[in-house]
Amino acid sequence: MTLPGPPANVRRTRVVIIGAGPAGVTAAATLARHGVTPIVIDEAAKPGGQIYRQPPDGAARPPREIYGFDAAKATRIHGLFKDLQSAAKIDYRSQTLVWNITRNEQRFRLDLLHNGVQATLDADKIILATGAVDRALPFPGWVLPGVFTLGAAQIALKSQGVAIGRRVALIGAGPLLPLLVNQYLAVGIKPVAALDVAPFIAKLRAFGGLAAQPATLLKGAYYTARAAALGCAITSNVRSIRALGDSRVTGLAYATADGKTHEIACDGIAASFGLRSESQLADLAGCRFEFDNASRQWQPLRDRVGRSSVSGVYIAGDGAAIGGADVAELAGEQAALALLDDGGTPTSVERRHTLDRALRRQSRFRRALESAYPFPAHLVANIPDGLIICRCEGITAGQLRDSIARRHPTDVNRLKAFSRLGMGRCQGRMCGHVGAELLAAHAGCGIVEAGRLRAQPPIKPIPLTSALATEVSS
Ligand SMILES: Cc1cc2nc3c(=O)[nH]c(=O)nc-3n(C[C@H](O)[C@H](O)[C@H](O)COP(=O)(O)OP(=O)(O)OC[C@H]3O[C@@H](n4cnc5c(N)ncnc54)[C@H](O)[C@@H]3O)c2cc1C
Repeated sequence: MTLPGPPANVRRTRVVIIGAGPAGVTAAATLARHGVTPIVIDEAAKPGGQIYRQPPDGAARPPREIYGFDAAKATRIHGLFKDLQSAAKIDYRSQTLVWNITRNEQRFRLDLLHNGVQATLDADKIILATGAVDRALPFPGWVLPGVFTLGAAQIALKSQGVAIGRRVALIGAGPLLPLLVNQYLAVGIKPVAALDVAPFIAKLRAFGGLAAQPATLLKGAYYTARAAALGCAITSNVRSIRALGDSRVTGLAYATADGKTHEIACDGIAASFGLRSESQLADLAGCRFEFDNASRQWQPLRDRVGRSSVSGVYIAGDGAAIGGADVAELAGEQAALALLDDGGTPTSVERRHTLDRALRRQSRFRRALESAYPFPAHLVANIPDGLIICRCEGITAGQLRDSIARRHPTDVNRLKAFSRLGMGRCQGRMCGHVGAELLAAHAGCGIVEAGRLRAQPPIKPIPLTSALATEVSS
């Protein structure tokens, strides 16, 4: 169908999409269909995002082998992006990190890092499609070499076909756990343990809501049943975990709900506890945030179609709220349509209603998934004093509790100032939410009052020499 072109002012508008996962790809395709050529930036070498991550050149494998049931979707998203590229409908900047956003009157300035070279890029409108990251929680031994997140273990497998060990223990609180167990089984590695810290009863209670997406529910049930059939049943309701070893991981100790403790030998552990939105760029752009109780995390405020609280900034996909790849695709298109609409480009009302209905159906499922895998508060409540919370700065739980008792910080940013929590390389991406949990528990305030660490540039580590060598692109 030929769509009417955008008005001249929209054609001159520079739109930058950050993220080439499902949300970024459908946003780019939607803009391109309406005559707008966006710049698409992604720090990865190839498009696809997390779920449809592509192996590097020379390590290609059949899509079915890498993406399993999602092979057809992965092929479609990769094909869509390739078509946009070959028709010059997008300006794609791969391997480019956006490490800062500043606002200047009505425009935005992006700081980029590409091949070690710093550059800046001005934008009139931005679609943030930055996805998510594993939610890490500290447990005894979590800083030992050989301990990874589930996402990192999966990235190694998807991109390089590499396992994190020969005897691997996988621990989680979300659908990534049964999926990764199956991905390991598919490459011939039977995990020595598959532990779920969520209670089984929570999944039973959530069943009605999960049935809103029967195909996804069946996929999860299949993974769980297949793991059990192949001798790697997932143990639910795990109460505590401890990585064992001196200079690297040699084992895992854990306690189950019946009070029994278990110890197994292993040389690799992957553990994470759900996902967290990558929302630092939204923060730097000045977007307001709200606390979402169900997922127990702060999310950038946005309206139904993805407009943030800052004019010209739109947010879609997991970077707005964890919703999964299908939601990300729909939300990317929806945010692009909102952007076009705001600039006066005619868009299909019927399509917008279809997207709206599809996203509403998905939201029932997402809420059920969050109650099936509640935040594992029991792991945080029992963090011992000697445990390192902030890996970059080596700050322990005891030091944080001491700061809270002596200095009475009123929010986690004050706690940071007193303790150096979150001041290192990761800028609090891994530890900030744990600091807030400890503050809420020990200061007796709520988790909302404890707040969230404000994002600081650079949002990811960059070489100092690159930051000094600035090259300005118009
Ligand atoms: C590690 C990991 C593994 C996952 N695996 C699965 C899976 O196997 N199956 C499944 O159903 N779901 C999986 N998920 C969830 C799933 O990836 C998401 O629901 C889905 O991909 C969301 O799509 P998105 O477009 O919102 O974000 P993503 O697909 O995450 O894409 C975001 C993109 O933004 C880029 N980006 C982020 N910040 C910047 C920046 N500052 N500068 C430049 N580029 C940036 C990233 O490189 C990435 O390519 C996984 C999530 C994670 C974190």
